[in-house]
Amino acid sequence: MDLAPDHHAGRATISITDLIRDGLALPQDAAALAPVVDSFRMRLSPDMRHAATTSAAVARQFVPSTEELTTRPGEMTDPIGDDIHAPLPGLTHRYPDRAILHITKTCEVYCRFCFRRETVGDTGHLPGDQLDAALDHIARTPALWEVILTGGDPLVLSPRRLGAVMSRLAAIPHVEVVRFHSRIPVVAPNRITDALLAALQTRLTPWIVIHTNHADELTAPAREAIGRIARAGIGLLSQSVLLRGVNDTPEALETLFRTLYRLRVKPYYLHHCDMARGAGHFRTSIADGQSLMAALRGRLSGPCLPTYVLDIPGGHGKVPIGPAYLARHAGREWEMTDWKGRTHPYRDPEPDPQD
Ligand SMILES: *Cc1c(COP(=O)(O)O)cnc(C)c1O
Ligand code: SF4
Repeated sequence: MDLAPDHHAGRATISITDLIRDGLALPQDAAALAPVVDSFRMRLSPDMRHAATTSAAVARQFVPSTEELTTRPGEMTDPIGDDIHAPLPGLTHRYPDRAILHITKTCEVYCRFCFRRETVGDTGHLPGDQLDAALDHIARTPALWEVILTGGDPLVLSPRRLGAVMSRLAAIPHVEVVRFHSRIPVVAPNRITDALLAALQTRLTPWIVIHTNHADELTAPAREAIGRIARAGIGLLSQSVLLRGVNDTPEALETLFRTLYRLRVKPYYLHHCDMARGAGHFRTSIADGQSLMAALRGRLSGPCLPTYVLDIPGGHGKVPIGPAYLARHAGREWEMTDWKGRTHPYRDPEPDPQD
């Protein structure tokens, strides 16, 4: 199948001068930023250019900084080990029941902390022969129950191209769920059209996981786009990255998660910032992340709380990283911590001798 780039994928990216014209206060002078955008591509969608002029939390995510030129110890080009688990180009298959299909490397914005920042860019979509091979791998692997489309951003594809991929996936009998990880509903909400939503409707159950990190991104057009997705009967989750200087306060996270839940989006994951090269100025410590999660528990209704996770460097998968509410003393003795930080003993009952 032909997956040549859509016309917009080749669209010229904006320049530092455009940002200055927008009235953005750049953190550094424009000349100093040239080597940064040479190393890591820059793009802001019109919606995020606009939001960045009034929100420092939005600007920090998309406007380049010379801090990106600093590589800290432990930082990697493939922090989550996508390549280790890639049986074929465009496919990452780490867990038995689900695999990631990278149908494009293009996004509408390039986030300055992206863990795939070394691979995203306007290099177009997965070539037809590689897509054929990836779909063939999925078809030959009966354990694959869910296919995750991520990228790049899968929703940059035209409805026609997405619909074609969807119908080929729907033709594989053991696949039942398709999940899209996307920033489009937030950063380019006008791309969420009826035609796009119709293209996602097949035999497969569709879920969209929205990547959003601050309530200032959830502009009126973004909220309307999320409403259209919800009314189309598509399940909605969110994932956020914990980012220093963007959302690393209890207030910022509380507002984000409450806003999402009101929009019928269940906060799913809060990612600890990965070891991507040049993203150190965004990274918090795990202890800080745990304190933030502890501050939110009890203060926020249960469904508003995501799971705080780390993708273990080296391709070992994601795990919850706390905070922990129980500690084991010995044998059947536990100590539980409640949402106010008070501790309580708990004892597992002895097994029934009849068992
Ligand atoms: C994150 C990820 C998934 C999805 O994991 P969930 O915990 O189901 O959200 C699947 N495959 C790979 C390779 C991943 O990195
Ligand atoms: S939209 Fe996602 S894949 Fe694209 S740059 Fe941002 S974090 Fe990376």
